[in-house]
Amino acid sequence: MDEINQPAHKSTKAIHAGMLKKPVFGEVSVPIFQTSTFSFHSADEGAARFSGEEDGFIYTRMGNPTIRALEECVASLENGYKGMATASGMAAITTVFLALLDQGSHMVGTASVYGPTRVVAEREFSRFGVTSTFVDTSDLNTIEKAIQLPHTRIIYVETPANPTLSVTDIKAVAQLAHKNNLMLIVDNTFASPCLQRPLELGADIVIHSLTKFINGHSDVVGGIIVTKDEMLYNKIKPVLNLFGGTMDPHQAWLVLRGVRTLPLRIEKAQENAARLSSFLLNHPKVKWVNYIGLPGHPQHHIAKKQMDGFGSMISFGVHNGLDGGKIVMDNVRLFTLAVSLGGVESLIEHPASMTHASVPREERESAGIRDELIRVSVGCEHFEDLKNDLDQALHKIP
Ligand SMILES: *Cc1c(COP(=O)(O)O)cnc(C)c1O
Repeated sequence: MDEINQPAHKSTKAIHAGMLKKPVFGEVSVPIFQTSTFSFHSADEGAARFSGEEDGFIYTRMGNPTIRALEECVASLENGYKGMATASGMAAITTVFLALLDQGSHMVGTASVYGPTRVVAEREFSRFGVTSTFVDTSDLNTIEKAIQLPHTRIIYVETPANPTLSVTDIKAVAQLAHKNNLMLIVDNTFASPCLQRPLELGADIVIHSLTKFINGHSDVVGGIIVTKDEMLYNKIKPVLNLFGGTMDPHQAWLVLRGVRTLPLRIEKAQENAARLSSFLLNHPKVKWVNYIGLPGHPQHHIAKKQMDGFGSMISFGVHNGLDGGKIVMDNVRLFTLAVSLGGVESLIEHPASMTHASVPREERESAGIRDELIRVSVGCEHFEDLKNDLDQALHKIP
C-alpha cells in the first residue's frame, strides 16, 4: 500500500483508501471491473504475472481491481497488512479454518458466536477430524482450561458477541494465545474497525461479515479476512483461491460505496443507541437492558479500554416473557422485524419466538437467550421517532 492508503484518521481512510493509483480517465470513484479474465500483451508477460514477478491481474477469482480497492480500504481501516474479500462472512470464516486447521487439530471459540460459525465447526469441520470447544471467552481462566496442547491451534473470539453482548478482552486473550503458540482470530463484525481494531490489540487475523456495518445498507452479502502480516496472508490467500469463496466485482463496488460512510453511520447509530438504552432502562415494561455503554454491563470496563465507542446493538428484557416479546414484535411500526444488523434502518428481533423458536427453552436459556430477550440493531433514523415507536409497542404489553 502506498501513502495514499495510510492517512491518519479513520474517516479519511474510509473515503480515500483503496482509490486506484492510476485512474483510467481521471475517474473519482473506483469503476466496476466486470471482467472474469485479464489479457496479457505477450507470453512473457503472462508468465511473469503467474510467477508473481510482475504485479497485475490474471483471473477474477485470484484478484480484480475493484475487489482489491475494497480490500485495501478495509485493511487500512483495520491497520492490517492486506485484506481478502470473500463471497460472504461465512466464506471468510470457513476459509480461515481451512487454512489453519488440519486433521486432528482443535480450536477454542466464544460460546455465543454467530450461530452458523459454531455449527460449521461442530458439524462440518468435525467430519474432517477437527474438534472444537466453545466457552465463555470473557473469562480468561475458562479459555486456559479449554486449551488442549498440542492439538489446539487457534482461539476464535467474537466480541461483542451476539445477542448477550458479552465482551472479551482481546489483548489478554492475545497474550494467552501467543504464550501457547496459538493464533488469535477475532470476528470484528459487531464493532466494525471504527470502534475496535483487534490487530492493534495483538490479534493475528480479523474477519468481518461485510453484510453488516461495513456495507451498512442491508443490500449486499459479503465478507473479508485481514491479516496482521504477509506470512499469514500468503498462507490463506491460496486456500481462498482454491476453495473459491471469493467476491464478485459488482458486490465489491457496492460494499466500497457503503464503507465510505461507515464512520458517519456508526457515529449517528451509536448516539441513537446510547439514548435509547437510557430510555429503555427507565421504561416500566422493561426488566433489564444490555448495552455495553451502560456502566452496569459486566464487561463495560473492558469495552471502554479496547473500543472507541459502544456501538449500536442493544438487547433488553420485557415483562410477560415470551408473550411480551411477541407483542412488541407485532406492534412496532418503524422498526423492521428482521435478522441481520448494522444497516441504516433499525431492526428488531425476538429470538425466542423467531430465530431460536425451534431450539428447546433449556438450551436457549443456557446460551443466555431468555424468553423475554429482544434485540435491536439501532439505525440512523431520528431518535424521537425510534423512541416513540418502541414506547407505543412496549405499552401494548399488559
Ligand atoms: C452475519 C454474521 C456472520 C456471517 O456473515 P454472512 O455475511 O451472513 O455470511 C458472521 N459473524 C457475525 C458476527 C455476523 O453477524
